[in-house]
Amino acid sequence: MIMEPSFHPSTVLVTGGAGFIGGNLIRWMFDRVPGIRIINLDLLTYAGNLESLSDVETQFGPRGDGHYRFVHGDIRDGALVSTLLGGDAHATDRDEWRPDAVLHLAAESHVDRSIMGAEAFVSTNVQGTLSLLTAVQRELELRPRPFRFINVSTDEVYGSLGPLDAAFTEQHPLRPNSPYSASKAGADCLVRAYTETFGLPCLTTRCSNNYGPYQFPEKLIPLMITKALRDEQLPVYGDGGNVRDWLHVRDHASAIWRVCTNGVLSDEVYNIGGSSERTNLAIVRILLAALGKPESLITYVRDRLGHDQRYAIDASRMVERLGWSPEYTLERGLQETLTWYVENVAWWERVRTEAYRATNALYS
Ligand code: NAD
Repeated sequence: MIMEPSFHPSTVLVTGGAGFIGGNLIRWMFDRVPGIRIINLDLLTYAGNLESLSDVETQFGPRGDGHYRFVHGDIRDGALVSTLLGGDAHATDRDEWRPDAVLHLAAESHVDRSIMGAEAFVSTNVQGTLSLLTAVQRELELRPRPFRFINVSTDEVYGSLGPLDAAFTEQHPLRPNSPYSASKAGADCLVRAYTETFGLPCLTTRCSNNYGPYQFPEKLIPLMITKALRDEQLPVYGDGGNVRDWLHVRDHASAIWRVCTNGVLSDEVYNIGGSSERTNLAIVRILLAALGKPESLITYVRDRLGHDQRYAIDASRMVERLGWSPEYTLERGLQETLTWYVENVAWWERVRTEAYRATNALYS
């Protein structure tokens, strides 16, 4: 269904744009939204990689057509966020560079790391989201205007499903099981509270597992591809039976934009999914077969603590109310992703060896 946008942002502040989804979202917006101006605010933690955006910087940065600005900084820095919301990303064109939307993706995002230590997760995901909300609140008091704050969350806040349970709807209670998902649920609750208490124009999206180009090889699909390409053992948690719903990152990008431009504030939350449930083991087998590698590379390792058994998303609100649906089948998306990793060995080798940090340091 083609739907006319009801909200037309011309300058957006993306948080976490040097990460996997943020970077793909920025590239998607420059592809699809003529004239858009994008400010990318990112702290460049281990997960931020400016090498993933070098083409964007060349084409749209200050030496290109000037529609893109990277700002190295922390979402917890309320003063910095306030200056960016006020138009300070550009020295002279302040009015043009005053954002009318925040697409909030900055986060600590890896479940295993949250099990090793939760502090950074609470600090960035909860405190950081609060800092953004208070800055947006102040800015809209100072300069009221049509605005959207899109909080990019995860299906993991809903907890885990049994094999026969119905998929998560937006009404499902929040039952986070990992420190990561607890911190994301904390952020979601703050977004709701700022909407209810102060009337901020916020929407939350809850999305299933993403995959695609430029994903940090600590996550399942790039981890397995890069290990298989190097003929290393592929570590699979438990018996590999945990089920995830997989969504191509470009379908996620189109969904975030659809929510930003057509989302109805009273809806509050939109679930986003790919209708592609598979066990982890099934995914690994598909990848090995496509690469012509033997299944003997699979090694079963001790299960993740508190490992959620199954996530499944009911995205009918996105489909029925916003006319969105994913374009990728899992088969096509996995094949394209595999090809991308095969053709971009230099990119992931520089992540694996941490050489990308030298590029980040140029901006720090
Ligand atoms: P990522 O880890 O690849 O990127 C996170 C980015 O945030 C990095 O560039 C990092 O430098 C930046 N960042 C971290 N702390 C920051 C801070 N304090 N200030 C500014 N920037 C900071 O994550 P991703 O996979 O791209 O996920 C993006 C968002 O989508 C996250 O909010 C995540 O919870 C959510 N999400 C991800 C998935 C998935 O499958 N990857 C699924 C559902 C939801």
